[in-house]
Amino acid sequence: MATNSDSRGSEKAEGQEVGRKSHSVPLSELYRVAYSQLDCSRAKYSGFRVGAALLSDGKIFPGCNVENSSYGLTICAERSAVMHWASAGSPGNPEVIVVVAKNSAGELVTAMPCGACRQVLSDLPGSNLLQVYTGEGEKMVKATLPELLPHAFGPDDLSSYGGDR
Ligand SMILES: [Zn+2]
Repeated sequence: MATNSDSRGSEKAEGQEVGRKSHSVPLSELYRVAYSQLDCSRAKYSGFRVGAALLSDGKIFPGCNVENSSYGLTICAERSAVMHWASAGSPGNPEVIVVVAKNSAGELVTAMPCGACRQVLSDLPGSNLLQVYTGEGEKMVKATLPELLPHAFGPDDLSSYGGDR
């Protein structure tokens, strides 16, 4: 997990602007949206609530985890945010995603995207520049998607088959 100077304190993180300069937003606003999604989370089996906020084209797309009694059908907050972005017409290249999580004891915890979500995020346009934040205040950590999923499987791998299926 990568950390850098952006993760050293809540004051710096709260005042930080993220996203492209032409339409950047405060990191604290993305955090607020992700945090608010904890109330929407449907986590009655694990009690592990997750909210996410995806920034793309200056707009914020929220997401929450939605668990299912058939556990494998559960969708994470990160993928929920991606579907929200897609259903809005996939505007822009997603630039930042903030993830907020509370464990079953109600404690805020640091939670980087799971493997499935890393793969979905890696298929987004411009994902080599996508920044992922999680945690709170001094515990907030940041990583780029290539750091989280090096050597990712992607569209280029499919084209190597030459369309012979
Ligand atoms: Zn996930």
